[in-house]
Amino acid sequence: LTKQKAAKVIGWARSHYLSSTVLPSIEGERLTIPRESLDLAIERLKEQVTKSKNLSQNLKNLAKDEYERNFISSVVPPDEIGVKFDDIGALEDVKRTLDELVALPMRRPELFSHGNLLRPCKGVLLFGPPGTGKTLLAKALATEAGANFISITGSTLTSKWFGDAEKLTKALFSFASRLAPVIIFVDEVDSLLGARGGALEHEATRKMRNEFMAAWDGLRSKENQRILILGATNRPFDLDDAVIRRLPRRIYVGLPDAENRKKILKILLAKENLESDFKFDELANVTEGYSGSDLKNLCIASAYRPVQELLEEEKKGRVSSNSTHLRPLVLDDFIQAKAKVSPSISHNATSMNELRKWNEQYGEDG
Ligand code: ADP
Repeated sequence: LTKQKAAKVIGWARSHYLSSTVLPSIEGERLTIPRESLDLAIERLKEQVTKSKNLSQNLKNLAKDEYERNFISSVVPPDEIGVKFDDIGALEDVKRTLDELVALPMRRPELFSHGNLLRPCKGVLLFGPPGTGKTLLAKALATEAGANFISITGSTLTSKWFGDAEKLTKALFSFASRLAPVIIFVDEVDSLLGARGGALEHEATRKMRNEFMAAWDGLRSKENQRILILGATNRPFDLDDAVIRRLPRRIYVGLPDAENRKKILKILLAKENLESDFKFDELANVTEGYSGSDLKNLCIASAYRPVQELLEEEKKGRVSSNSTHLRPLVLDDFIQAKAKVSPSISHNATSMNELRKWNEQYGEDG
C-alpha cells in the first residue's frame, strides 16, 4: 500500500466501522489494524453483504429488462447511505431549504396534495466550487427524505452502451419510477446536459439528451410521483436555458467563511484525539479559502504527524515497535500541514467570479 492508499483505507474503516480509539498504524509498506476492530469490521461487512444481496434480488425483480438491470448497482436505499444532515458542517440555510423543498414532500406527500401552490419540486440544482459538499448534501438529503438514491454521471448513460444511450435513459426513468420515492443525483450535470455541442455533437449524445429532457417532462407532469432530479455542477454557466428552466430551484453552495469552517472542522475532528482546549477558532481563522474538502485533506495530513513521530521514535528505539499510543493532535500539526495542503481554488479565480455572476442572475439568493 502507498501511504495515500493506506490513508484511504484507514479513513474508510474509521468512517464505517472503527472507533478512533483503536488506531490502525502504518509502518513502511505495512498497514496494521488491531484484531478486535478487524473482527468487528468483518462482522459488519458480512451483515451488509447479506443485506445488499437481498436488496439486489428485490431490485432484480423490479427491473423489467436488460437496460433497467444496468442501474441496479447504482441504487442505494435510504438506510444504507450513511450520511445525515447532521454530518455536514455549516450550510444551514441550504439544508433548511432542501428539507422544505424535497425531504418534507417526500416524507409527507399527503400535505402537498391539495391546491396548486404547494407542488413538489421535480428539479433542483446545487452549484458552486468543487469540494463544498454538494455530493454530501445530495446523499444526506436522500437519507432525510427516506428516498432511494441513484447517482449517475454522463458516462453512466453513454460510455458503456454508446449506441443505446437513448434506451438506457428511458430505462433510467422507468426503473426509477418503480423505486419512488427516489432522488436521481446527476453529478456534473453540465457534462451530461451541457449547452448543445453544435455541429460537433455526436448524434447519439443529442438523442440521449432529448430523451432525458422528454422523460423529465413526463415526470414533471405527474404531480404525485415522488421523483426528483438533483443536479450538481461547478460549471452552471455551461448549462443551456432548456436545462436551467427544468431546474427551477438553484442553490449556491459556496466556500465556508471562518465561522462555518469552524463548524466543519468540529465535525471532521469530532472523533479525533485532540489536545484539551483545542483552538478551533484559530484554525478556522487561518484556513481562509479552504473548502470542506480541503479542510478534510488538511485534517488527514495533520493526523499523520503523530503517527510519523511515533515511527521515528520506534526507529530510534525509544518506544517499543508495537506501540499504538499516539499523542493528541495539536494546533501546530495543522499549521505545519498547511504547507502541504493549500486551498484548491483561489477566491479571485475566474471560475469563482463566473460562479458569483451566475448566482446573481439565476441563483436563489442572487
Ligand atoms: P462537491 O460535491 O461539492 O465537490 P463533496 O460533497 O464531494 O464536494 O465533498 C468532498 C468531501 O469533503 C466530503 O466527502 C466531505 O468529507 C468533505 N466536506 C465537504 N464539505 C463538507 C461539509 N460542509 N461538512 C463536512 N464535510 C465536508
